[in-house]
Amino acid sequence: MLIRDETAMRALGARLIEACDRGGVITLRGDLGTGKTTLVRGALEAAGIDGAIRSPTYTLVELYPLERFSVAHFDLYRLGDAEELEFLGYRDYLNEETLCLIEWPERAAAMLQAIDLEIGIEYAADGREVEISGLSDWGRMLASNLK
Ligand code: ADP
Ligand code: MG
Repeated sequence: MLIRDETAMRALGARLIEACDRGGVITLRGDLGTGKTTLVRGALEAAGIDGAIRSPTYTLVELYPLERFSVAHFDLYRLGDAEELEFLGYRDYLNEETLCLIEWPERAAAMLQAIDLEIGIEYAADGREVEISGLSDWGRMLASNLK
C-alpha cells in the first residue's frame, strides 16, 4: 500500500497496535529513513505512551509496559554478533506477553525464526510503498486486518 507521508505512517502504526490482541514478533525492513521508527512511534503513541519514546540506536532495545502486553522496540542496526544478541536477553522477549517491533531484523538471523508479521518499506516517488505479510496464523490475521 502507498503511505504518502509521516502522518499516514504513524496512523498505520496505530492501526497495527490496535489490531494486536497480544504480543508476537513483527519485523520492519527498509533502508535508513524509510519510516520504520516513525511507524513504531505511531504505534506507541496510540497505545498511550508519549513523551519519552527513544530510538534504541545504542541500547538496541527499549521496553514499554502496556496494559495487555509490553512492547519491545528493537533497533538492531548496530548489533555486533550473535553473542551480543544473547546478551540482550532476546529470548526473554519472545513470548505472547511481548510485542517485539524489530528494525533491522536482518542483523539477527536467530530472531527470524519466530516472525509473525513482516513489514517491508521502500521509497516511492510519492511517499513510501509498504508491504505487509503474515508468516504465522496470528500474523496472517493481523495482515488481513491492516488491508
Ligand atoms: P527509519 O527508522 O526507517 O530509519 P525514520 O522513521 O527515523 O526512518 O525516518 C523517516 C523520515 O522520513 C522522517 O523524517 C519522516 O518525516 C520522513 N518521511 C517522509 N515521508 C514519509 C512517509 N511516507 N512515511 C514515513 N516517513 C516519511
Ligand atoms: Mg529507525
